[in-house]
Amino acid sequence: MQEMTYGITLPEKPREFGFFINGEWRGGREMYERDSPSHDVPVTRTSRCTPEDVNDAVAAARLAFDDRRWAGLPGSARAGILLKTAEGIRQQREEIARWEVLENRKPISQARGEIDHCIACFETAAGAARLLHGDSFNNLGDNLFGMVLREPIGVVGLITPWNFPFLILCERVPFILASGCTLVVKPAEVTSATTLILADILAEAGLPAGAYNVVTGTGRTVGQALTEHPDIDMLSFTGSTAVGRSCVHASGDSNLKKLGLELGGKNPIIVFADADLEDAADAAAFGISFNTGQCCVSSSRLIVERSVAEKFEKILVDKMKKIRVGDPFDPETQVGAITTTGQNETILNYIAKGKAEGAKVLTGGEVLDCGSGRYIAPTLFSGVTPSMSIAREEIFGPVLSSFHFDSLNEAISIANDTVYGLAASVWSKNIDKALTVTRRVRAGRFWVNTIMAGGPETPTGGFKQSGWGRETGILGVEEYTQAKSVHIETGGRSHWIAS
Ligand code: NAD
Repeated sequence: MQEMTYGITLPEKPREFGFFINGEWRGGREMYERDSPSHDVPVTRTSRCTPEDVNDAVAAARLAFDDRRWAGLPGSARAGILLKTAEGIRQQREEIARWEVLENRKPISQARGEIDHCIACFETAAGAARLLHGDSFNNLGDNLFGMVLREPIGVVGLITPWNFPFLILCERVPFILASGCTLVVKPAEVTSATTLILADILAEAGLPAGAYNVVTGTGRTVGQALTEHPDIDMLSFTGSTAVGRSCVHASGDSNLKKLGLELGGKNPIIVFADADLEDAADAAAFGISFNTGQCCVSSSRLIVERSVAEKFEKILVDKMKKIRVGDPFDPETQVGAITTTGQNETILNYIAKGKAEGAKVLTGGEVLDCGSGRYIAPTLFSGVTPSMSIAREEIFGPVLSSFHFDSLNEAISIANDTVYGLAASVWSKNIDKALTVTRRVRAGRFWVNTIMAGGPETPTGGFKQSGWGRETGILGVEEYTQAKSVHIETGGRSHWIAS
């Protein structure tokens, strides 16, 4: 019998997916069964592809690129297909949101918001497909004219993580397609459904066969085969810094494919005494609890001016206690379960380490019983010192570490005391302070008196060990192109050899 949760039906039996190569569904592989992390019932079965499947997918993408069935179209035609895809996603918004919740456990209201963002990604990339252009040099003298062509880089391998299965996919795919590249995607094994659903939407929108291929399975087998593949021209990887490093090695040992890497973060939220403390506390609570803190840009280090630290932490604790944690299908839920049992254990180990190393839990720090699934209360640690593991390592959970500072320079120095540089947020009503921090803290994305704001128009990516390259926006299309310089002689070329 089907169970209902907040009016939404759990699948009677797990939905079975094949994998998608050259416009066709394939199957017949060993299957991986995924349980809903919030409801503990099996929801999907996906194929464990083999390295031979990866070869087939890359060959299909290669042919679709080389015969120019996609790259050879006018930008306006590519834009048309991306816009139709946006419409297709809009029509399936509820269905996609449901599978995101079932496999990933994110609250339904959040999943819907993310899908709206995904639609915007396709629309933005459609505009970029029409506007993509090179450059010209009319200043090389009357006899020489120069042009810079932007050409798609070729076949792209795309490896995505489990925390934002559809959102991270859609922050990459339309921009890759806008450039004229073809691709092979490998989603995280636990959250493959919506990447596979997109295959049908793209095909219905008119994307030529072979331009978008999906192989599912483990990172060790399928992901590794993609990173090493000699026929992939560029790999876009989003995930942990450790696996990002292995992508660098695999590229070096194979064909030196270009890499785009979006990796971990230990992002600061810096609060000055002159900030609107209510606003800043709301942002700090949101920044660490959104997506259960399983977010590359989670603000996991609170850096607050000592003169208001105690007051601020009190306001923050009050707010964090009010966060609604529970069944993700409840429209009121703000924070769902932890996505995997492994990640649940990792977070709980960090909480234990923080306590053992002497930091003080101001709120949270415990598991919550919500009937089924694994839930952790949003947690605030105070008295954190720079050498503690909760100060330095990415926890990827709802655990916030608080530091105190006395001067602007000290705040900047604490913020920069990390190997990461993904995102940062600063709170002050003083423009000099806010701008100085923005210019001196090394991070790829910055928010002033706000947090996690912005759309697909602007680029995303990290400084330092948070990654290489940029996704989204015009830069996110250009990332998948390469420049070709062309010189044209328009007069008689003067001869090298005397006649
Ligand atoms: P992960 O690195 O373990 O896995 C990410 C993807 O890589 C998955 O599809 C996985 O199957 C694949 N993979 C695993 N081993 C591989 C290998 N040897 N070769 C090729 N592919 C391999 O990360 P995760 O556990 O899925 O996600 C959590 C981590 O991702 C966090 O630690 C966080 O730092 C990072 N993350 C970063 C961003 C960002 O935008 N910067 C976004 C989400 C997650």
